[in-house]
Amino acid sequence: HAKQLGKNNYQLYSFTRDITSYKKYILEKDMRKAIEKEEFEIYYQPQVATSTGVIQGAEALIRWNHEEWGMVSPGEFIPLAEENHLIHQIGDWVIENVCKQIRTWIDKGYTTRPISINVSPIRFMKKGLVEYVADLLTKYDVPAKYLELEITEGSLLKSEKNVLNTLDGLRDLGIKIAIDDFGTGFASLTYLREFNADTIKIDQVFVQNITEENKKDTAIISSVLHLAKGMDMKVIAEGVEEYEQLNFLKQKECDEIQGYLFSKPVSLDIFEQMLETGYIKPTKPKVNKLPED
Ligand code: C2E
Ligand code: MG
Ligand code: MG
Ligand code: MG
Repeated sequence: HAKQLGKNNYQLYSFTRDITSYKKYILEKDMRKAIEKEEFEIYYQPQVATSTGVIQGAEALIRWNHEEWGMVSPGEFIPLAEENHLIHQIGDWVIENVCKQIRTWIDKGYTTRPISINVSPIRFMKKGLVEYVADLLTKYDVPAKYLELEITEGSLLKSEKNVLNTLDGLRDLGIKIAIDDFGTGFASLTYLREFNADTIKIDQVFVQNITEENKKDTAIISSVLHLAKGMDMKVIAEGVEEYEQLNFLKQKECDEIQGYLFSKPVSLDIFEQMLETGYIKPTKPKVNKLPED
């Protein structure tokens, strides 16, 4: 009997694995055409002032509406795009699309907020990023202060002169730099000083561990906040889902929050409605329910 169970488990495992590798194969194959077919879309997740909920900016997050698989998350296809080098085309599409969007908002008279864009370490390391961004700012007549680029600690660690030059070039343009997923990449304090970033984004793993009992993670967050203040950097806490987390971050005077408690990433239409209101009240996110519930 045990043997049979084992066999079933194996079949289940290999079935799941086949689906996964089949999907991977299809996504890779279709990725080349996805830009032309306009299957990519940008969602925006608001970043709000911790104490007031006033919208301070947003992060641009790519979505792929695949004709067969529906919405595919970037966690699934960005790593594939990094492997097959389409990340350059996709990443550049995101930057241009956001610049175009900021121009539209300025024309519509919205109080425009800075938009953060994720830049893959692979794109960051390739030459020409500074010139590419500079050309887009000119093309769409967008002030540099409305753009922030997010780079993970990981890409900064491989740091060479190249990386530092690119950072300097972006800063000279007036673009802000954020360190994404902070705390997961072992960046030393020396690095922090050298990169001279404007914003630190505390990774969600630390935020989601904020509880009365968890003294270690709350200590990490407290010291990051303390350090950032001393270095004149802004801190955004990512992945805030609970009032308990919000209250702790308020008490520690964390500048901004980005998390489901305020808003999930939303489509352009919904984000524009939020911009009109200008602030968001925290609401506990609904647990995902089955369709029949
Ligand atoms: P990230 O840059 O760290 O983005 C934050 C991720 O956390 C987003 O996932 C967001 O939806 C999710 N998140 C925000 N608040 C909460 C919360 O309260 N709870 C939970 N559970 N999750 C929350 P998303 O959109 O699936 O993106 C995943 C990753 O894919 C991003 O992580 C980023 O590394 C990458 N990515 C997304 N868009 C782009 C892009 O345009 N270019 C590149 N190169 N990478 C991108
Ligand atoms: Mg990010
Ligand atoms: Mg992050
Ligand atoms: Mg991430």
